[in-house]
Amino acid sequence: TGEQPQPEEPERNPRSDLKASDRADIFEKAYRFTRADEAKALGFYPYFKPISSQHGGTVTVGNREMIITGSNDYLGLTQDPRLKEAATAAFKNYGTSCTGSRFLTGTLALHEELEERLAEFLGAEAVLTFTTGFLGMLSVLSALAGRQDVLYFDRDNHASLYDGARLSFGTLRKYRHNDLADLERLLERDAGRRAGGRLIVTDGVFSMSGHIADLPGIVQLARAYGARVLVDDAHATGVLGESGRGTAEHFGLEGEVDLIVGTFSKSFASVGGFAAGPRPVINYIKHHARPFIFTAALPAPQVATVIKALEIMQTEPEHRQKLHRNAERLRGGLKSLGFDILGSESHIVPVLIGQDEHTALFWRGLWDAGIFTTPALPPSVPPGQGIIRTSVNANHTFEQIDRLIEAFGEVGRRLGVIG
Ligand code: PMP
Repeated sequence: TGEQPQPEEPERNPRSDLKASDRADIFEKAYRFTRADEAKALGFYPYFKPISSQHGGTVTVGNREMIITGSNDYLGLTQDPRLKEAATAAFKNYGTSCTGSRFLTGTLALHEELEERLAEFLGAEAVLTFTTGFLGMLSVLSALAGRQDVLYFDRDNHASLYDGARLSFGTLRKYRHNDLADLERLLERDAGRRAGGRLIVTDGVFSMSGHIADLPGIVQLARAYGARVLVDDAHATGVLGESGRGTAEHFGLEGEVDLIVGTFSKSFASVGGFAAGPRPVINYIKHHARPFIFTAALPAPQVATVIKALEIMQTEPEHRQKLHRNAERLRGGLKSLGFDILGSESHIVPVLIGQDEHTALFWRGLWDAGIFTTPALPPSVPPGQGIIRTSVNANHTFEQIDRLIEAFGEVGRRLGVIG
């Protein structure tokens, strides 16, 4: 596609006595980055598609109504009138912004109310909330992991955890995805050789594969090797466990996980993040985490939305139950057509397509059939392992899910992904 016009580089006039190496331009990579524009010109660019309205299982794009899959509105609460009302009331009372850090002028009574209620729900001594889940992960890991400490990471952990580790002074050790023999090998190797503490860090439900962490095994290893456990339940709070308390409840391991971190941008239908754990640890993070202290507080309407969503989570299990029925239908339907869903055991269901071009063609086929999806391509997945990440929410009807499966079947047969 060498036909694409190249973006024009603006002229620069560095001093004439500068060495050639000093003339390198930090912007140069940006002027050479044309891949996204090339894909757009060919009609194969699946990202940043603007949605003009959302209605549960469908969205409007331009003037087309499309079935959406892959969003994280798991309990389908983003359009719930009770959440909208709570947000509106908070707007009226507190105004549009906190305009400051929680540390200084940005703590509202509403933040503390949410923290108390969430701690009670999760059975934790204390909770701290953050402006996004991403900032929460940065906060917790950077505040806790010092030079002597070691972080043991499932390889498939979320990017925010990796960036938290990078921002910390701790040592990062990665074990193969959900492979406890590999984790034990690393713990054993370090035993008796380090002065600091250890923290095993894992997603509860993995965001790309829909796998559930082997928490019973992790907890056992942690106890044996004197390590603490942190679970990122971004995709599990409100979803897993009889009462929606997440991965620990799912396995009957409540009280065994030292820190539960998560987000409000999925089941809670809002934005923000949280960490739940022992009071002294939460208090320490509160007084040391730079991505918590040096950023503006979560605005009141978002906080009020979470409080209302939490109340609904606790009193209306039907949303969670519907989500599980929908997920089962989606997994069953895709599997019976012969798709490889990479062992998903949850409401996140990846569909393996393969090479990049094939995955892009597959996405386009679904788009033309009125299905809003997004592919995951390398580097977010291994080379040649392109996927379409699907997920359902509690508002999808069986009819919508069946149409979705049918569209996957048609495109899959046409492109030879299935027989
Ligand atoms: N952890 C995981 C596992 C996630 O999937 C995400 C978001 N996709 C985050 C953390 C970050 O959450 P937030 O959207 O609130 O920044």
